[in-house]
Amino acid sequence: MEKEGKIRISSENMMPIIKKWLYSEKDIFLREIVANAADAITKHKKLVDLGEAAAEEHYRITVTTDDKAGTLTVEDNGIGMTEDEVEKYITQIAFSGAADFVDRYEKAGGEGIIGHFGLGFYSAYMVSENIEIFTKSYREGAEGVHWASDGNSTYTIGPCEKETRGTKIVMHIAKGEEEFLHESTIRRLLGKYCSFMPYEIYLDPKGEDDKPVNTPEPLYLKQPKDCTEEEYKSFYRETFSDFNEPLFWIHLNMEYPFRVKGILYFPKVKKQVELERGQVKLYCNQVYIADNIKEVIPEFLMLLNGVIDCPDIPLNVSRSFLQNDRQVQKIAAHITKKVADKLSELYRNDREKYENCWNDISTFVKFGCVKDDEFYKKVKDIIIYKNLNGEYRPLESFFGEEVSEEDAKNGKEPQAVYYVSDLSKQAQYIRMFKDAGLDAIVCDTYIDPHFISYIEYKNPTKVRFLRIDADVAGALKEESGEDPEIESLFKEILEGKSVTVKTEKLKDRTVPAVVNVSEFMRRMSEMHSFYQMGDAPEDLTLIVNTACPAVEALKEADEEARRLAAMQIWYLALMNYKPLGSEDAESFTKGYAEILAAYLKKVK
Ligand code: ADP
Repeated sequence: MEKEGKIRISSENMMPIIKKWLYSEKDIFLREIVANAADAITKHKKLVDLGEAAAEEHYRITVTTDDKAGTLTVEDNGIGMTEDEVEKYITQIAFSGAADFVDRYEKAGGEGIIGHFGLGFYSAYMVSENIEIFTKSYREGAEGVHWASDGNSTYTIGPCEKETRGTKIVMHIAKGEEEFLHESTIRRLLGKYCSFMPYEIYLDPKGEDDKPVNTPEPLYLKQPKDCTEEEYKSFYRETFSDFNEPLFWIHLNMEYPFRVKGILYFPKVKKQVELERGQVKLYCNQVYIADNIKEVIPEFLMLLNGVIDCPDIPLNVSRSFLQNDRQVQKIAAHITKKVADKLSELYRNDREKYENCWNDISTFVKFGCVKDDEFYKKVKDIIIYKNLNGEYRPLESFFGEEVSEEDAKNGKEPQAVYYVSDLSKQAQYIRMFKDAGLDAIVCDTYIDPHFISYIEYKNPTKVRFLRIDADVAGALKEESGEDPEIESLFKEILEGKSVTVKTEKLKDRTVPAVVNVSEFMRRMSEMHSFYQMGDAPEDLTLIVNTACPAVEALKEADEEARRLAAMQIWYLALMNYKPLGSEDAESFTKGYAEILAAYLKKVK
């Protein structure tokens, strides 16, 4: 005989609230129901271990879709429930658990609970108009129990025929939610939430050679020493559907003082220009919670691909609580340390591989440094840059002598490290540098401008960076090259333009003039364009090379030729800095043709 009962919690108001919050993620109900099934099996296993229940040969969870009947069913052969237990666990605990969830959610001010964790059995009412439970306890002589409720305030409960031990949850799918009757939808959801659940899950089984849809013993749970390279690679392919091989990986396997397991992969970067988002999947005891949870995993690690299983993280609390949780902070620090250790190990043990991977990992490392001081401290010695010969060197090896505090107070700046941001545009300088035996580093990635500012900020007495065309490095010039006559000639022809004119005697006699842009102003203007604040004024300096025969010859020439040639010299210098505007280009072309004609007439 079936009895009727009243659900004690007032549930009428809960469902609309839950539905509203979880509107875009209502599919988590499947995770909750399957996780309950897995828990029921774990409980049974424990009883078997204690000798309190008969052993089971094949634990399994079966998920069935029935389009015609309009039901989605999840069945397990776990511990099962007696009638009293159903009363207690389902009508009391499950419903009060949901009420509790609503309460916590409200307290969290709508910012949510990560992965909507902990809603439990009740969540299935988001997609069901009615749910039936058929269950039979492991206890000897237990009878089957049937329970049914539409999730509002009443339910029925009574005995039923059930042959096998365990629980079957039959969800009568509500109108409008028919997608949850499609095998393909359920397959996708099981793939997302239940991939690593610890017992075999079968979807719509047909016969003998059915295969489980999940991997009950995911690789990350194994001891690192028992995993082969091929296993790591195939785990990567299957988990991230990325057919590019990962560069290398880090297997986290910590038991004490907190548990963290997982594998972090360094993927190959597809394009250099921007930071690519990776995917770090967070699990709790093999149950998927969510991707890229910045409250738990340091933000910069989310450029990697990985799975992390942290059973100790309190997941049914608000995000802001998590962020300030000491345990969570320790876990995050541990993961960061492991990543830094792995990079150092690679640097020390396999420099060649490290250098080959650097292109792919440098953005990650630099971003990590800027975001996390501890990480910077651990990897600062292994940040490498290419020099002008294309050889990698540790960044710190380019630094000059440290300026004493005393000197720094008196305004002494540390020695400059020159850098190239564009190998072809700055080719003229590069050649001059090489000829003078000077070196520079190549900073040509998206993040470098930010990164070198960060390095300066961290090492104020050790380094400052100057782009190779920011000034004329001391070693490029002879002692004194000032020439007031030449200087005033150029000032005259450039009148009205905001260009400073200087004269120097460069060791390289072939270059008549170069354009310098002050490092400070250029960084300002880069910042302007980065934040789309419009164009900042350019601050150009023309350095005329008085050692160049063409410049010397200006003095001999008549007024008209002098002005024409000086103008051409200005254009040549400007051109090596940036493309000429259309007016300048036209005027340069005309001037050039004029000079050619005169030259040809002369040499005949
Ligand atoms: P939680 O799992 O967080 O305790 P739920 O609302 O999901 O909350 O479930 C309430 C209780 O119902 C569980 O603690 C468990 O005792 C019982 N239960 C739910 N599903 C099953 C199942 N498949 N087999 C046995 N017991 C179950």
